[in-house]
Amino acid sequence: MNRYHLPILSIITSLFLSASFNTSANIRVFACEPEWGALVEELAGDKVTIFVATTAQQDPHHIEARPSLIAKMRRADIAVCTGAELEVGWLPLLLRISGNKKIQANQPGYFEATSQIETLDKPEKLDRSLGDVHASGNPHVHLGPYKLLTIAESLKDRFVKIDSSQTHYYEQRFNDFKQRWLAAILLWEQRAKPIKNSQAIVYHKNWAYLFDWLHIRRVAELEPIPGVPPSAAHLAKLKQQFAPSPPNFILYGPHQNAKPANWLAKKIDAPAIELPFTIGGNKNAVDLFSLYSNTIDKLLIAMQ
Ligand SMILES: [Zn+2]
Repeated sequence: MNRYHLPILSIITSLFLSASFNTSANIRVFACEPEWGALVEELAGDKVTIFVATTAQQDPHHIEARPSLIAKMRRADIAVCTGAELEVGWLPLLLRISGNKKIQANQPGYFEATSQIETLDKPEKLDRSLGDVHASGNPHVHLGPYKLLTIAESLKDRFVKIDSSQTHYYEQRFNDFKQRWLAAILLWEQRAKPIKNSQAIVYHKNWAYLFDWLHIRRVAELEPIPGVPPSAAHLAKLKQQFAPSPPNFILYGPHQNAKPANWLAKKIDAPAIELPFTIGGNKNAVDLFSLYSNTIDKLLIAMQ
């Protein structure tokens, strides 16, 4: 290198340094589902620009790897997703096509919620003839409040890792969230007492973590096997089985067909209830706190 190159190099170096120390440059987050977008908002607030890849009206098992999603993934600093094979049909493809090295699996820019906790419903043996069974257990973890807190702490640690100049900020945000969240859990547990030991037929095992927490019993599913839409034969069987002693509710989400639930509701005299399932699932579920409150409210009203 001759000496004429030196000033250019130092200009480039100083540009690079100023870019990496520029605190106004937000971390770009690719959140696979609305719940993770909401959690990132709680933990990282104005340090991030969040793109949420899916809505509550979409089934997260089945998303199309559209070019617009690839473009967002290409520019992301971190991807925050569910894992446990929930996004197996679209996320690996997006990651590969994006060519973004920062967010590939095993990189700090790739965060999987289900890898931070012990999942429920882990199959003892894997039999694909039983349908869309997830080998790593039930991926729908965000409605278990204690598990969500564990995930939040790991996610905070991840933000500290990729953006260490803001460590204090992330620690403070997490502590604030933790305090509000634990206080909310106490209130929810108090309010939800009347639904303890209630029984539910569910469209899919979406609410396994909520049920585990609030002691609600899942007695059947509308899907004959996971991932397969309710069939007439299966619904007829459920009608026969539950008409003599109906469960407290039949639950479905905004991304699921209401018709089978409504049909069965009439036949067995149990209320069919649409729960928000995630942020944006109805107009009241605007963040994690209101998602939980609204879910419990809807179950309480149905019990009366
Ligand atoms: Zn599922």
